[in-house]
Amino acid sequence: MKRAILLLITVVFAIHILNGQIFIVKDGKPSGRIIADQNFRTDKEAADLLNVFIEKITGTKLPVESPSGKFKQGDIIIRGFGSASPSDKSLILKEDGFRLKSDASNLIINGGPGKGSLYGVITLLEDYFGVRYYAAGALNVPETSTLQIPANLNRIENPSFRYRQTQSYNMALDPLYKTWNRLEEPREIFAAGYWVHTFDRLLPSAKFGKTHPEYYSFINGERRPGSASQWCLTNDDVFEIVSKKIDSIFKANPEQKIISVSQNDGNFTYCQCDKCKKIDDAEGSPAGTLIYFLNKLAARFPDKEFSTLAYLYSMNPPKNIKPLPNVNIMLCNIDCYREVPLTDNASGQHFMKALEGWAKISDNIFVWDYGINFDNYVSPFPNFHILQTNMQLFRKNNVNMHFSQIASVKGGDFSELRSYLVSKLLWNVDCNVDSVMQSFLNGYYGAAGPFLYQYIKIQQGALLGSNIGLWIYDTPITHKSGMLNPNLIKTYRKLFDDAEKAVRNDSIRLKRVWQQRLTIQYAELEIARTGLMNDIDYIKNELILFRDRARLLDVRSLNERNNTIEEYCELYLKRNLPNPKKSLAAGASVTYPIPPNKPYDKIADKALTDGLLGGATFNESWVGWEKNDGEVILDLGEVKEIETVEADFLHKLGSWILVPKSMTCFTSEDNRDFKLMGKVIVPEDRSPEVKYVSYAVKSDKKVKARYIKIHFEAVGIGPSWHYGVGYPVWFFTDEIWVY
Ligand SMILES: [Zn+2]
Repeated sequence: MKRAILLLITVVFAIHILNGQIFIVKDGKPSGRIIADQNFRTDKEAADLLNVFIEKITGTKLPVESPSGKFKQGDIIIRGFGSASPSDKSLILKEDGFRLKSDASNLIINGGPGKGSLYGVITLLEDYFGVRYYAAGALNVPETSTLQIPANLNRIENPSFRYRQTQSYNMALDPLYKTWNRLEEPREIFAAGYWVHTFDRLLPSAKFGKTHPEYYSFINGERRPGSASQWCLTNDDVFEIVSKKIDSIFKANPEQKIISVSQNDGNFTYCQCDKCKKIDDAEGSPAGTLIYFLNKLAARFPDKEFSTLAYLYSMNPPKNIKPLPNVNIMLCNIDCYREVPLTDNASGQHFMKALEGWAKISDNIFVWDYGINFDNYVSPFPNFHILQTNMQLFRKNNVNMHFSQIASVKGGDFSELRSYLVSKLLWNVDCNVDSVMQSFLNGYYGAAGPFLYQYIKIQQGALLGSNIGLWIYDTPITHKSGMLNPNLIKTYRKLFDDAEKAVRNDSIRLKRVWQQRLTIQYAELEIARTGLMNDIDYIKNELILFRDRARLLDVRSLNERNNTIEEYCELYLKRNLPNPKKSLAAGASVTYPIPPNKPYDKIADKALTDGLLGGATFNESWVGWEKNDGEVILDLGEVKEIETVEADFLHKLGSWILVPKSMTCFTSEDNRDFKLMGKVIVPEDRSPEVKYVSYAVKSDKKVKARYIKIHFEAVGIGPSWHYGVGYPVWFFTDEIWVY
């Protein structure tokens, strides 16, 4: 019975639609027109876009006219917010929202403030004309000589977030991509591009630091002006200088209404002078002085909006002071793990506590979320299953602006799918994620789609089953016993083989599959260098295939620090494939007069002489010291003649890892009397790239020694130009060679 009713409803519905269609184009000839106010920018853009696609679909264009006189059968009427077209007074749409309303004769597209009418047109093209926009230059446009619209539409949509940003690399390649995906960029809305970490731009420490150190943070006993340091927020002169500057910025950019006044990128570098500390102590958070300062600005410029970061040290809300409505709080969950939604692990709960705290005192919140691996762009990052839940949590907690930082370079994990899916979610947090994903995979990868869908699902299950967190600075090595264990890698290889086979005659789609496969190739290479590499030829071939494919596909970047894949491959060949240098210290036992810090002490007995070299991520192979000097003694087992002692260091400023200042070697035959062998001074290096550097102490003649003591002089405290200014920094060494 139930089935019969369902059937009946389906039939009735089908007849209704069949009868209730408006012809836009019939047998290759236009039926109606596009009516839009040609003097209104958004509507003109919407009308032009619509006509471009109608022509692509049907081969014919519609006449475009400004609103005057009566509408005709088949007209599409575009009425943006603020255009000259008469609008429906009872209709209230939010920023960028729209309504599609049709009856037997025509379709009206109403737009809310912002780009509503344009987004209404895009929805028409996508959902009713069947256009798909997968990535830059990757469109699917159906072709037909007759185009119709249902005559009973009444669809209203308002976006889940008023501001939507992803940083997809596709935007740089294709300007329409951004519009189509309803995305925005900071430079469009933030005055003069002032968006995050703006303190040093607004009050440059290079300009005022010497003459007015009191404008800047008091940290550990002194004022420390610097680009990673902050302001003394209770200093009245700072407020006046900054106000003046902001006034001039807005005067020069009258179209823009919001500016970011936000801390520099450095942790714990807020001012701890007596005056600032008193407020922050009373407010229970360094956000206290920040909101106190921002509220003063917001009151001085009531028609403008001020965005500030609640980030790292300032993440927790103040206890008493409430941000004014025109203060926008930008929260970043950079420290969170992403294998489960934010409510389900400790780091996420910590962030949620802060977000919920801010939501109690503000309904103007911006969340900056991360779906990208900054240290290893080209590696698996299975977080699709948490996106929707997290975005729903944001919306529930008064988040009205959202930046989901993903896929900023080609070659990141599913960068095109990620951008497509995240854009859909930014628009509607309740969309059907699985259906969006499958529709993308089948459209973009064609017959390979189902294999990639399986790959995503298996990897997601493996991640959850492994109980290993997913971090934005992970390396594939982190997951070598979990979602990237040898059996799963085999499974993934098989799925990619099948996917390649399915599209072997379609070179465009085959290349797309190759691009995604790079992540698994990279994972294999990274994991291989932590083991014994029994089959060197196999790994060499894999490396060359990885390099050649990356070249062919124009996938260049390895990480956020400007390291390239080319460079990675070159270094891998030199560093990780059999080392031609025969070290006299191979397998030597190592003791530590000055022990390394935890957890790096765990592997310290073998790591420095095992012949395996660490990679860009420091959780395997490297031995590190924080702040203090380090010292090691190698025991060669017997007295040998030596000339050179060489040590390998990691240079990675973003992780507060700086090479030591110097390295001094002493030799001994009995482990009691040590003689100075030599010292090498290591020059300071401020370059942002991650690097491996080695320095050697050389003796001009052969020295007899069984024991070699090496003393590393640490940099200790972060210098003024570094993010860690005033705080302890690290140094890491991996292999020590003796010749
Ligand atoms: Zn202060």
